[in-house]
Amino acid sequence: MLQNDKTDYQLAQQQIFDGIISGEFGVENRKDLGPMIPIRLFQVLRMVALGSNVEDILGQGAPSMVYHSGQSLGVALGHIVAANTDNDLETYVGKIEQLCRQLSIGLVVPEKVDITAGVIELRVDQCVSCAGIHNVASPICHFEAGMVGGIVKSFFKRNVKATETKCNALGDKTCLIHVDLI
Ligand SMILES: [Zn+2]
Repeated sequence: MLQNDKTDYQLAQQQIFDGIISGEFGVENRKDLGPMIPIRLFQVLRMVALGSNVEDILGQGAPSMVYHSGQSLGVALGHIVAANTDNDLETYVGKIEQLCRQLSIGLVVPEKVDITAGVIELRVDQCVSCAGIHNVASPICHFEAGMVGGIVKSFFKRNVKATETKCNALGDKTCLIHVDLI
């Protein structure tokens, strides 16, 4: 369905981002239930809808698609916080930390920033996607890796390659995203 050249998903996306930008986290039509959901419901959307179900359709291509989705979100979040940061990386990262905490995505902590070498590493502590998940064979937070990559891409206006090198679901107690500026 198209309205003003936008699909219904694009219209919904616009309203969700407008809500985030406004900083007002209350939402309509949730008088009794409020704006919060149990983390397990988010994980169903993240690991099932945007995980095993995608894998059923795409097979080994699933992580790339999930990464791409995360990157789109990261770029959008980057745009949201980029205003009033004067292109200052520290201010930008501070605002990202704040937004990720508000949205309960996780606690973002810069581990390494070496612009000359084109390397940035950000930790995501208490990652919403893999909290309480264990015994996986490799890092599973492709969405978050993409998101962090998108956040970095948005600031530097350069292509990036983000890789999750530690994952809480592997027993690492945190998720570490290594970003190469390319
Ligand atoms: Zn992880």
